[in-house]
Formats: sequence, structure tokens, C-alpha cells
Amino acid sequence: MPDGWDVVIGMEVHVQPRTRTKMFCGCAVAPLNAAPNSYVCEICLGLPGTLPVINKAAVEACLKSALALSCEIPRHTKFDRKNYMYPDLPKGYQISQYDLPMSVNGHLELNGRKIRIRRVHLEEDTGKLVHAGDKLHKAWESFVDLNRAGVPLMEIVTEPDLRSADEARDYAMELRTLLRMIGVSEADMEKGQLRAEANVSVNREGSSELGVKTELKNINSFRALHRAILYEVDRQTKLIESGGAVEQETRGWSEAEQRTFSQRSKEFAEDYRYFPEPDLPPLEIDPDWVEDLRRTLPELPGARRTRLTSQHGLSAAQVAVIGGDRDLADLYEGAVAQGAPTQPTANWIVNEVAPTGKLLAPQHLAELMQMMGRDAISRDQAREVMPIQRPWPTTEAGRSRRCRH
Ligand code: ADP
Ligand code: MG
Ligand code: ZN
Repeated sequence: MPDGWDVVIGMEVHVQPRTRTKMFCGCAVAPLNAAPNSYVCEICLGLPGTLPVINKAAVEACLKSALALSCEIPRHTKFDRKNYMYPDLPKGYQISQYDLPMSVNGHLELNGRKIRIRRVHLEEDTGKLVHAGDKLHKAWESFVDLNRAGVPLMEIVTEPDLRSADEARDYAMELRTLLRMIGVSEADMEKGQLRAEANVSVNREGSSELGVKTELKNINSFRALHRAILYEVDRQTKLIESGGAVEQETRGWSEAEQRTFSQRSKEFAEDYRYFPEPDLPPLEIDPDWVEDLRRTLPELPGARRTRLTSQHGLSAAQVAVIGGDRDLADLYEGAVAQGAPTQPTANWIVNEVAPTGKLLAPQHLAELMQMMGRDAISRDQAREVMPIQRPWPTTEAGRSRRCRH
């Protein structure tokens, strides 16, 4: 990061929990290749006279995520209307949570540092606009696809605790690992299941006052997140050094031009005229339910990595690969439990399983490692016979990944 400057970043990450249906209606969540507007009903289209109903599976996913992030779960929570006009929002408002979110005050441990989580709340996604243009004839058309309107989203907001582009990217990746491990979401950025927005400001080194921030959007990959922040830090520091001032605004990331550009000046909470959603009851969250959900959480990535290091003696590089993926970690531990040797098995997973994405059953890997160990087969032969099993055998881990509602 630039000499003489401190960088401050807070992240707002939207994650689509794995549910069968939308947030407030019975529509199935559309597959990516669905025909436009084929997964809609009168509720998610916002037709007058219809009433939303809360999706319990989404609430459960949000609570589990919040617990995995060490958040407090207040007993009372409610939904609010966030009002604004845009063609992808047929109701004229988005149902979100304002002053009583599902959870508050958590943290995510990142390389030994605690990144504070301000809140995790639930809301609904909007539709998608598709613009088609014909430069030659100057004819432009815009299309609206409402398949995504009403799809559940969890919004995970940090305090401004991140200090560099590297750290912001690592945070987003660690969050993805955590959410995958607890089985609440695939959190695949390419499928739009995880969307990261970065709030970025700079201030003179040592100054205690936070600078004016900009909010970066349209970020489609972890690489783009990293680059957008680097670009923005450079832009802001140069602007201030040349006597200018950063404007509070929303900026988009252009992948083609590798730069951020101004989209709109920052809106404030007042602009949205938030008010309690009159069509939904406030929720009282039963503490016993919360404790039940807490008990269903698997071992979290931090604890698992520590165990792989201290108990199995794996190296940092091995732990980085195996500890960051639940399937690989389960495979490793399953194979070792069936007699596979720790180091060769860890190396085999890092070099042969992780890069190929070929999963095999733990007992098969254990056999393979043992055969290689007594020179019954060579590495090349092992590679050739490595059985590929799909779907992944129905272990407890496999089952709990799928949604129960
Ligand atoms: P807004 O009211 O503009 O939405 P919030 O205070 O709600 O701002 O914060 C939104 C996000 O921006 C949070 O993730 C927060 O940590 C982050 N943030 C707030 N102030 C700053 C700042 N000066 N620099 C960087 N990030 C910030
Ligand atoms: Mg905000
Ligand atoms: Zn619907």
C-alpha cells in the first residue's frame, strides 16, 4: 500500500443461501440457464393484493452463518421496506432489514486478526436488466428478467477493519470457505451467489480520522476485487495529494478498462424512507432453536486448520489447500482414519486431487496410498486407477450440504 497513507476498507458481501424457494414466495430459485421470467409469481412480481411469507430455510441459513461468525442473535428481529425506484424492482421497494437485523457484533478471524462483523441480515434480490444495443441504427432496447427478484440474500457487513487490498481479498475468500464449510451456500462468485462490495478510504499515516469512502460495485471475481481496491487507493491518494477531495459516491469497476468509474453520488439512509414491512410479522427467535442450530455447525475452518497443523503435522502449504475445502479435508481425514499415511496422503491430495477436482471415496484413497507405500503400484498407475466417484458418497457431511426445506 502507498507510502505515507493508511488504507481503510469495510466490506459488504451478499451471499445467496442454498434454499429451494425464494425469500417470500413459493417460486423455486431459478437455475442459471432458465428462460427469462419463467420463475415468477404474483408475489415476487409485486402484484397488488398479494402477501409475502418468510422462508424458514433462509432464516435458518442466516442464523447459522451468523453463529459461525460469532454474532449475537437478538431475540427480536423484523423486516423493513427499503424504497427506491428502479426497473428491476417491480414492487418499488426491497424487503430488507434496517434497525433490527437478524444478528450483530461478530467477527471472522483472518491470519490471526479479528475482523469485526457489524451485522448479518436477510433481504431479497432484485431482477436483472439486460441491455441490447445496435450502434449502427442507434436502436437500444432494455429487457427485464425477474427470475432473481425475491431470491434470498444474506448481507454480511464488516466494520472498517481491513487494511489492504490483499486483506480484503483474503477476507472475502475466507468468508466463502466458512459459508461452504457450514453448508449454507455454494458461495460461487461466478454464479452470482457471492457478491462483494468494498468501501474504501485513505488517510494520512497515523491520522486517527477516517477519510471519505467510496463504495465499489460490479466486482465479479476475487481478482477484480483486489484490482479495484488497488486502483481506488491509487486514485484517492493522488487526488488528495494534488489538492482535491474524495467524493462520497458509488463507483463501478470496469473489467475492460481496469479502472473504477463514478456511478452515482452516495445515497443516505433517509433517501430510502425505510419503514417496518407491514405485511410481515416481526420475528421472535427462540433461543432453543438458536442453540439447536449452533450444535449442527461442523468444525469451523479455523479450528480445523489448527488441528490439521498440530495433530497431523501438516505444513502451512498443505493446510492452505486441504483446510480451505470441506470435501478435501473430509477426504484427507477419512483416508487417514482408514490407515493412510499422513504426509504422502496430504501431498497426494494437494497435487493430484485438488487440481483435478476428482473426488474419490476415503477408503479408496486409503487403499491407493497403501498400495503405493508398499510399491505395489507406481504414481502413474495410481493416477490412472484413481477412481472417480460421483456423486460424492452419502456421508453425513454430504447430506448436510443439501437444503432440508
Ligand atoms: P453507509 O451509511 O454509507 O452505508 P456505513 O457506515 O453503513 O456506511 O458502512 C457501510 C460499510 O462501509 C461498512 O462495511 C463499513 O465498515 C464501511 N465503512 C464505513 N466508513 C468507512 C470508511 N471511512 N472507510 C472505509 N470503509 C468504511
Ligand atoms: Mg450501507
Ligand atoms: Zn414468486
